[in-house]
Amino acid sequence: MHNQKRIFEKFVPAQQRLELADEIGTVPVGIKFENMLSPTRAHVNGKEVILLGTNNYLGLTFNDNILNAIKDSLETHGSATTGSRQANGTYEGHIELEKELKEYYNAASAVIFTTGYQANLGAISALGGPGDHLIIDADSHASIYDACKLSDATTLRFRHNDPENLERRLKRLPETGARLVIVESIYSMFGDVAPLKELVEVAHSNDAMILVDEAHSVGCFGETGKGICEEVDLLDKVDFISATFSKSYSSVGGFCLSRHPEFEYVRMMSRPYMFTASSAPANIAAARAALSEIKSSPSLRESLWARSRQLHSGLEEMGFDLCAAAGPIVAVRRPDELTAVTDWNKLLDNGVYVNLAAPPATPAGVSLLRLSVSAAHTESEISKTLDAFRQLL
Ligand code: PMP
Repeated sequence: MHNQKRIFEKFVPAQQRLELADEIGTVPVGIKFENMLSPTRAHVNGKEVILLGTNNYLGLTFNDNILNAIKDSLETHGSATTGSRQANGTYEGHIELEKELKEYYNAASAVIFTTGYQANLGAISALGGPGDHLIIDADSHASIYDACKLSDATTLRFRHNDPENLERRLKRLPETGARLVIVESIYSMFGDVAPLKELVEVAHSNDAMILVDEAHSVGCFGETGKGICEEVDLLDKVDFISATFSKSYSSVGGFCLSRHPEFEYVRMMSRPYMFTASSAPANIAAARAALSEIKSSPSLRESLWARSRQLHSGLEEMGFDLCAAAGPIVAVRRPDELTAVTDWNKLLDNGVYVNLAAPPATPAGVSLLRLSVSAAHTESEISKTLDAFRQLL
């Protein structure tokens, strides 16, 4: 008689990690917010805390125009599409949002997916066919790694943010098959920005296309909020841009767009596009309303950057080891996991919630307190956050 439960043998390390986390007092399966009071405040354990770990970069989650768009959509389109884009899951809102993104980016094709994870999974797995090569930054997000697994292409990694290493890898590839380089414009753990100009130059001069994941930069960078490709004037050079609606856009969903019209056919090639239900109409309505705010309110970006500089310079003055320059993500390096966990708990006790990031979620085994800044933070909320960090010294 076989032991059915041996299927769970592989879960043992996860169980051990949970037990350890319980012992040292952290929350590996996520914190529980009892009540969201605003984009920057919530109740945790019955106590009000300032939120600095939500990726709510523009603070739009309580924006009146977005909330009204969601309410209207619920009344006119119901709660869900109950089907995939190819079958019964394409509503007017999905088409309109794709048109709006195409126009905004001056792209030849824009395709929305149910999440940002699926945008990468769907676009990259379809672009990488048998005999092709996907060359990815070693610190890529899980969605990029998973997309490579789902594709039929061969995957290679190059050293994080290192155009020379990328060039060496590309030069060693066989002449046959297509090549796609995949990078992020800003990396979610450290908040470091990619040398995009050099990476695009190296990709194109070695016969490769390039896809840039702008998940953490849309809304935050560029004159009209398109992201870092806009900021460094690369929109007409980068081949594909993917991003999510789950951060600055304060919704759920994602997109991939391209200056190449052929990308439209991804709709017939991509399993994560074809075999899953489309975004709920209310999520699409929220993303459309957010896009309109992003385009029309440069003041949101100004507030975000002002608060980020306040936080970054305050932490720097206290001598904290910061991973990158000021930006939407401010990551504080801690000497080890136990210190990070202890500090994380102290901050929470002092009314500040940040993200705790430790291996295996972080590159190079680093333990971090990761803060995401919001345009909705007030100067006084950032000052209180700095006070809470001062208590750690
Ligand atoms: N790409 C990157 C770089 C991300 O950080 C994330 C989410 N953290 C995603 C893609 C996936 O986005 P979503 O949450 O919409 O699935």
